[in-house]
Amino acid sequence: MKFYNCHIHTFRNIDVPDRFLPFSLVRVLRYALGYKIVTWFLKYLIPFTDNDLLDRYARFVSIGVKSSQAEIFAGCAQFYPKDTMFAVLAMDLAYMKAGKVKRTYKEQLEELANLSKTTGCISPFFHADPRRENCFELFKYAIEELGFKGLKIYPNIGYLPFDERLNSIYAYCQSNGIPVIVHGSPRNSVYFRGSNKEILQLLEGSVVPIETKGKSNKELCSYFSHPLNYEQVIKSFPQLKYCIAHFGSEHYWREFIQNPCSPDNWLIHVQRLISEYNNVYTDVSFTMNNRDLFPLLKILMNDPLIRQKVLFGSDYYMVETIANERVFGLDLRAFLGEEMFRDIAEVNPQRFLLNI
Ligand SMILES: [Zn+2]
Repeated sequence: MKFYNCHIHTFRNIDVPDRFLPFSLVRVLRYALGYKIVTWFLKYLIPFTDNDLLDRYARFVSIGVKSSQAEIFAGCAQFYPKDTMFAVLAMDLAYMKAGKVKRTYKEQLEELANLSKTTGCISPFFHADPRRENCFELFKYAIEELGFKGLKIYPNIGYLPFDERLNSIYAYCQSNGIPVIVHGSPRNSVYFRGSNKEILQLLEGSVVPIETKGKSNKELCSYFSHPLNYEQVIKSFPQLKYCIAHFGSEHYWREFIQNPCSPDNWLIHVQRLISEYNNVYTDVSFTMNNRDLFPLLKILMNDPLIRQKVLFGSDYYMVETIANERVFGLDLRAFLGEEMFRDIAEVNPQRFLLNI
């Protein structure tokens, strides 16, 4: 079996703005000494509080601080068979109002393109933020000169997926069979850091009515990547190959298990979209770090319409610990069985990524 991991990241700390994580952690953890102090603090001074999140941040930064995307990539690739293909998604985080990014986006793209050439097993994806000037030109440069193979959309950092400035890029992808992966989970720690007022302005035009009562900025930013906002793009570009990542998210899977009739569950929305539209897919990245959710995935995949639309991906290194990457590479495969796993890790990805 040829293995495809359709969703990982290798961007570095220098591609991330300083206030990307809370408490200036990016700045503090960028230095080895800062990292030691923070982890010591976590371990000995606040062992009885819920420091899981901080611990994850610390691990996140400790991977991002590595000296090249090649080194970060190697940390993931070691867990997969030698000829595995990886879709690596770049990130343009310059416009999320979280401070300055250390190097230019173009430099990040060129480093990834070089890595793709030397390894021969990477499909690089260009992240388009419509606020970047000349975004279409940079996108074309990435595809035509650097050999990028796909498009990534990450609306939680402050744009709607059907922003008309993206139309020329979508049209290009549609006519050239270029796949698109869009972020699809709520309450992410990566979100637009501007004011509440700015968020509401940016959300104007959202297909989903905005409920502001009792909602933090982080929660409000979830609306940007609401599946029904994605449906607008799907309707406008019906031939576009479109993957709504994370299959509705771990949050909504848990909610579905406990309360299957709760309204506005993203798992249900995504399930409908991938069944209804020919070119719409989802992936199990991040969400399947939770083994408790394996049985529901297996049951959902009994539906043949769903089974041909699920892609294997891990979302390295967003939640990563070594154990987590193994959950994806080994545990999920063993649980689903070879036949079902082959569909999500080989057959469907070949259709989505390579038009085979
Ligand atoms: Zn991701």
